[in-house]
Amino acid sequence: MSGKRKRVSQLTATAWGAARGAWTSAYASRLVAGVRGGGCAVLRYHSVNDDPVWARDYVSPKIVVRPEEFDAQLAYLGERHTVVPLSQIVSAMVAGRVPDPRWVAITFDDGYEDNYRLAYRLLRKHNMPATFYVTTGCVADAEILWTVRIRFALMTTTRTEILCPSITPGPMDLSSPDARERAVQCFTGLVKHCSQAEADDVIAEILDACLPGCGPMSQRVMMNPDELREMERNGMAIGGHSVHHYNLPLLEDGALRDEVLGAKSFLEDRIGLHVEHFAYPNGRKDRHCDARVATEIARSGYISASTSISGPAGPGHSPFGIPRVGVSARRVDMRSFAANLQHGRLTRPHSPSLADIERNGPPRGAGGNEVA
Ligand SMILES: [Zn+2]
Repeated sequence: MSGKRKRVSQLTATAWGAARGAWTSAYASRLVAGVRGGGCAVLRYHSVNDDPVWARDYVSPKIVVRPEEFDAQLAYLGERHTVVPLSQIVSAMVAGRVPDPRWVAITFDDGYEDNYRLAYRLLRKHNMPATFYVTTGCVADAEILWTVRIRFALMTTTRTEILCPSITPGPMDLSSPDARERAVQCFTGLVKHCSQAEADDVIAEILDACLPGCGPMSQRVMMNPDELREMERNGMAIGGHSVHHYNLPLLEDGALRDEVLGAKSFLEDRIGLHVEHFAYPNGRKDRHCDARVATEIARSGYISASTSISGPAGPGHSPFGIPRVGVSARRVDMRSFAANLQHGRLTRPHSPSLADIERNGPPRGAGGNEVA
């Protein structure tokens, strides 16, 4: 066994177990949760798209909302709520004020090209602001986001099973669309539990195993600098979402700084944007944020950081640990959308990560001009 293979085997014994544990405990932790306390809602979107190939081969169908659904959701928010810039909610949190419970902020993670082509157009139609968190290493497809690379390889390979001996004991079934979707979930979950070097090895082994037979990508994946500049000129905020979308708590200090400060420097110095907000990559049931990462975010000059933990943004929360309400393709009819918004706004799950940030993270009002 080569040294690299041996290292991957050792890591996967731990990471695989952690990943399985996280999946099985996900629903239990949601049930245990439940601390009542209102706040306003920061919505978390990823993709607005009506192409079924995109929502199968490129990104999970769960994170894709169709344009007509997004249009209807914005109309609902315009009637029942006040859509405000994220910075307005952050200002209230920094000042210790209770945000108006009618306030809603709209955010997008990752930086997919449909954010400009479809979501931005609809936001302008409704005259609403939003914040777009961009994975900067992937701007204009300089690099393809690793989650997209894994999904595309597993979905388009002509193989009906693959062998990844360092990762799984037996062959991984790819003989049906459902089996491929399960493989994507398994491998993606595993990478989220790996450090940077480990993640690179695991991703390379999965991609190698899918060859030959993966078609070339025919679609652009991410927004480009001109699109980001135009959006900012017209009232949208652009935020950082790290450089490579690794799970930040698993990175060592130097690599963490490169991911956090590197994203801000790229957007400001290379593209000419003004960047104040950050969103932790990955997450929900995976531990994706903590006080150490939050401190690095503040030190890099950001004034807020949004998580993927469901709940309200309100008093008592750190601006470096903002819960959000995820919007998925499973809750697109207006009744479900409204119920999800209300549930997320009122119910805050117990989260050790948020407690760590609030207790040991940067003080309110940190960030801004603190870059060393
Ligand atoms: Zn992301």
